[in-house]
Amino acid sequence: MLSTLQNQYQAFTELVTMQANTEQLSNENRLLANLDSLTGLPNRRQFFSVLEQSLSQARASGTRLAVGLLDLDGFKPVNDLYGHSVGDKLLFQVGQRLQGLRAPGIHIARLGGDEFALIMTEAVHDEQVLELGRKVCAMLREPFLLVDIPIQIKASLGIATFPDMAANETEVYEYADYALYQSKGQKRSEECLFSSEHLNQLHGDALIEQALRRADLQAEFFVVFQPVVDNRTRRTRCFEALARWRSPELGTVPPSQFIPIAERIGTINRLTLPLLEKALYAAQGWPREIGLSFNLSVHDCASADVVEAIIEVINGSGFDPARLDLEITETAAIQDIAQVQRAIGLLRRMGCGISLDDFGTSYSSLSQIHSLSLTKLKIDRCFVTDIQHNPASFKIVKSLIALSLGMELECIVEGVETLDELAALESLGCTLVQGYLISAPISLAETGPWLERTLALPTG
Ligand code: C2E
Ligand code: MG
Ligand code: MG
Repeated sequence: MLSTLQNQYQAFTELVTMQANTEQLSNENRLLANLDSLTGLPNRRQFFSVLEQSLSQARASGTRLAVGLLDLDGFKPVNDLYGHSVGDKLLFQVGQRLQGLRAPGIHIARLGGDEFALIMTEAVHDEQVLELGRKVCAMLREPFLLVDIPIQIKASLGIATFPDMAANETEVYEYADYALYQSKGQKRSEECLFSSEHLNQLHGDALIEQALRRADLQAEFFVVFQPVVDNRTRRTRCFEALARWRSPELGTVPPSQFIPIAERIGTINRLTLPLLEKALYAAQGWPREIGLSFNLSVHDCASADVVEAIIEVINGSGFDPARLDLEITETAAIQDIAQVQRAIGLLRRMGCGISLDDFGTSYSSLSQIHSLSLTKLKIDRCFVTDIQHNPASFKIVKSLIALSLGMELECIVEGVETLDELAALESLGCTLVQGYLISAPISLAETGPWLERTLALPTG
C-alpha cells in the first residue's frame, strides 16, 4: 500500500510540476505576444489593452488621461542609407531612451515601424503633458552613435487627452494622430496637444474630405496665376499656377485647406494631373519668353507612376519643358529621398526646372538640398514680412541669398507686400520677386492684359 501511495504521490507531483511548467510557458508566450521583440517595449497589442484598462480606471475615478503618438522624422533615410541593421539599432536605441521615461503612470509602447506611443495616467495637466512631450522630443534630438558618424533624427509627437477632448478609446487615438499630423505640419515645434481649435478644424476637415471625395476634379478645380517679376527690368519672368476649388457644396475652399487633405486621403495625385493640364493649356497662349511654374506635391514625386503620368501630360501638351518650372515644397515629409531624386532627375532630363518652395521653413539639411539637383530656391514669405524692421529676417534672407548664389541657383523671394520690403530686398540684391505688391494671383483672362502692360514697360 505504501509503495502504491508513493507511486501516486510521485505521479501527482509530476502532474503539478508539469502544470507549473505549462503555466510558465504560457506566461512566457503571453509576455512575448505582448512585447516588441526589437526594443523590448510593450507592443501595439499591449498598448491597446493598457489603454482600455487605463480608460476604464480613469472613467471610474473621474481622472484625466493623455495619449501621445510619436513618429520619427528621418528614420527612413537612415534605413535606406545605412541598411536595415543600422535602422534596427536606431529603433533599439530610441526604445532604450524611451524606457528611461518609464515611471508610475507612464506607459511606453512601440506600435510598429518608427511609431511609438505613450499613455499618461498621472500628472496630466496640459502643462505637465507638454513638458513630458518636450522632454521626449529633446531626448530624441540628441545624436545617436550607430556607425562612424553621429546620426541625428527628430521626433514629432501628437497628444490628446481624455475626457475633456476625447470621449473614448477610438477618439483619443484618432485625436492624438491628428495632433501628430499637425505637429509635422508645424515647422518649428515638435509636440502638439490636441485642442478645441483642432476639434473644430477636424470637423471642418471632415466636411472638406467628404466633398473632395465626391468632387468632379475636372469641373470644380481650376488654376489662377501669380506673376514672378524681375525687379530690375520689371518684366514678368513667369506665372506661378495656383490651384483653386469652387465646391458646389462648400463654396470656395483655399488650397492651404484642401491640399493637405488631398495629400492625406491620397487624392492629390488625381488632382495634380488635371491642374497641370489646365495650367499648361493656359501657358500655351503666352509669349515664348514667359515661363510657367507649377506646384507639385511631394506625394506626386513619391510615386514613380505619378511621375510618369506627369511626364506624359507635359509631353502631350506640346509646351516646351524648358519653359516649365516644377515647385516642390521644402518639407520634413520628404521620406523617400531616393525616389524624389529619381523623379527630379527625370524631370530635369526633360528640360524642366525644379524650384524648392518655401525655402528656409523646414529642417532639410544642406546635403539633402544639394542632392536634389534643383535650379531655383524660393525664399518663404515669413522672412519677408516686415524685413525692413526685423534684423533677424534681414540676416536670414541675406544668408539664404548667399547660399543660393553659392549653389548657383536662382533665387525668388515670395510674399512681397510693401515698397519698404521691396527696397530692403533690393538692397540685398534680390532680383526675382513675387507678392501682392506686384500682383495677387489673377485669372487666365487677366494674364493677357497683364503681359501687355508689363511688356510695354521700358527695361532697365
Ligand atoms: P505657395 O506655392 O508657396 O504659393 C504662395 C502662396 O502665397 C499662394 O497662396 C499665394 O496666393 C500666396 N501669396 C502670394 N503673394 C502673397 C503676398 O504678398 N502675401 C500673402 N499673404 N500671400 C501671398 P495660395 O494660392 O493660397 O496657395 C497656398 C499653398 O497651397 C501654395 O503655397 C502651395 O504650397 C499650395 N498649392 C497651391 N496650388 C497648388 C497646386 O496646384 N498643387 C499643389 N500641390 N499645391 C498647391
Ligand atoms: Mg509655390
Ligand atoms: Mg511658397
